[in-house]
Amino acid sequence: MTSTTATGLPGARYPDPVVPRFWRDTEVALADAYPWFKPRAQQATLTAHMWDVLQRRSHGAVEAKTGTGKSISCLMVAEALPGRVVISTATRALQSQYRDVDIPMLQSAGLLTKDVVILDGRGRWLCVARAKKELAGELQAEGKRILKRLLKALDKDPSQRLVRDLLPVGVPDWLWTRISSDPDACQALGCAPGSCAYLTERDRARSAGIVIVNHSLLLADASLKAGSAVAWGRRSPSEDEPLRLAVLGPYRHLIVDEAHALEAAAESHGERRASVRGIQSLVTRVKKLSWPTQVVNFLEEAAAQLQNAIRKLPQNSLLEAVDNGPVLLDAAGYAKRAAQAARDADSDPERTAVIGAACNSLAERLADIDSALRFGEDELGPRAPSAYEGGVVSQLIDAGPWLRKHLWDQVPAVLMSGTLTVPGRSGFVMERVGLAGVSVLELPAVFDYNAQRLVFVTPRADSGGGARVNADDVAELEELLRESAGRALILFPAVQDLRYVHDALDGTLDHRVLGQGVTPAEDQPRGRRGGGIVPMPNARLAELFREDTSSVLLATRSFFEGQDFPGEACSLVVIARFPNLRPDDPLTLARRRLIESNGGNAWVAYQEPSMQLLFRQAAGRAIRRVDDRGVVAVLDPRSGSKQYAKRALLSLLPSGYTDSLDDVGKFLNSGPRSGLAVGEVRSADAP
Ligand code: SF4
Repeated sequence: MTSTTATGLPGARYPDPVVPRFWRDTEVALADAYPWFKPRAQQATLTAHMWDVLQRRSHGAVEAKTGTGKSISCLMVAEALPGRVVISTATRALQSQYRDVDIPMLQSAGLLTKDVVILDGRGRWLCVARAKKELAGELQAEGKRILKRLLKALDKDPSQRLVRDLLPVGVPDWLWTRISSDPDACQALGCAPGSCAYLTERDRARSAGIVIVNHSLLLADASLKAGSAVAWGRRSPSEDEPLRLAVLGPYRHLIVDEAHALEAAAESHGERRASVRGIQSLVTRVKKLSWPTQVVNFLEEAAAQLQNAIRKLPQNSLLEAVDNGPVLLDAAGYAKRAAQAARDADSDPERTAVIGAACNSLAERLADIDSALRFGEDELGPRAPSAYEGGVVSQLIDAGPWLRKHLWDQVPAVLMSGTLTVPGRSGFVMERVGLAGVSVLELPAVFDYNAQRLVFVTPRADSGGGARVNADDVAELEELLRESAGRALILFPAVQDLRYVHDALDGTLDHRVLGQGVTPAEDQPRGRRGGGIVPMPNARLAELFREDTSSVLLATRSFFEGQDFPGEACSLVVIARFPNLRPDDPLTLARRRLIESNGGNAWVAYQEPSMQLLFRQAAGRAIRRVDDRGVVAVLDPRSGSKQYAKRALLSLLPSGYTDSLDDVGKFLNSGPRSGLAVGEVRSADAP
């Protein structure tokens, strides 16, 4: 069996693993079935490490870069382990890789015999009953046209998977909210047993040997299990504690891929939010059902109370304890009364349950946020409350204890990712997810970054105020885009900077310019045209960027990771500024205070490592395949003056960087990179 001692040093020697027999057999079978398959030391080490950790029912972590073949290793380890295994992912791109490439490949080579189910989150499933009801109702003509085409296509081929991005007809966001299998909207509309696609798939997942989910579903399941030994299958059900299947049923092993995103998923899971607009849309739903005005009145009063409270609270800052007593409990009280009125008002129990549950959930969220305002803690731990225009929110300050209690104490797990360490703080991600002390095995890269990637760093000096983009950045960008002939992903930490550059570039390039939040959706309802735009969804933006290989895509943080643009379309990745956390962001502020109150240094312990992680992820967009060649351009003039910038650049620089635009053109337009030798650093100011 392999040693699990991690070196903790990037690129350092690591102990030779004792590769398990099943993996050696897999390599032989894959090489027989697929001549392009080449055994790799990194993949064998990854597999051996995962196998060893999970067999010992322990916890482990591996940083394995893009191209290692992580998903095949995960599936084969899950196949070899006894009992059910859950594999959790963060992005749709990775789920597609499993669904469309790796699972069919292993199955057709006869290597995967366990039943595998990829269970999408409920909100991504189509509810056919709702779609039919909308079609028969008062939906506008455009919506009816889409639904008719969709239902006709599904009638023709009933075997189609009813998950949004796999549907034969595209459904815009505004329509999807009316036809998805959202639990809040599920009214069990006379659905016969077996007729609900989501529930059927969930039941299949509960008995499958391997289940692939996203992090949110993983956490929702863990939350419902609430640490119960019965729910986790460690104790038999009894009269006192009957079996609770939660979503996934009991399972024996967990593999968390894209583990760098687990903390953010836990943040979303633990977030409590209530907005005036949210209450108003609930009012609209209730009005449509023609219920007595009492329910509407209570909800409208809840909205008014929330609006009053928000007026008293400072916005976009961490709220201190509110001395003058509960602020939101009046609003919560009205929401509760609305729930009761809904129950009293309607004779249809299913319909009542939906509205009653929505009102109760609103009341609970308001009460939770109110408690956070007064430094209360719930079972998830301490929270950071804040107010924004139109709403209030409370966020989890430290997800680690919750993850430890609900996952790590329940099930052996291996975490892995292409970016699980940051310069100087290899344990940062593990600390954030509650696994401090579990060391990360860092595998060497599979790609030849020296040959495949050129790093350009602006020669401009920092003259102060370097945090925001300006006309000099636009001029440099135009030159870079000329050299790259478009084909660029430009990443901004702040939306304002994206808008500034978008406005400046608009109409000046020969290439199509797409912008997150500024390119309008193709299918926005007619009434919105001419008014404020309905932005194009991220998935569609990514698709257009891939299809139009000379286009330019301007994007913010959601494109820093999880987006895969192999090939020519993404030949240039521009990082406009280092993605520092905003120090006045309420959640960052709360985390800083927590660290400092324990005697730590918040910049060293949290802010810089968070930035380094984001920076590495952004730079990672350039090279996704072994035959990719790409340039990473850093335009931040603080590159030469700030220590954190130097550390970030050093983590990218196996072969040095250039500050010459000519080098960018030569690199992109020729085969081997010209002008720089391995190990050479071009700039005199190199860190
Ligand atoms: S059970 Fe709910 S989600 Fe499923 S088909 Fe019926 S109404 Fe839709």
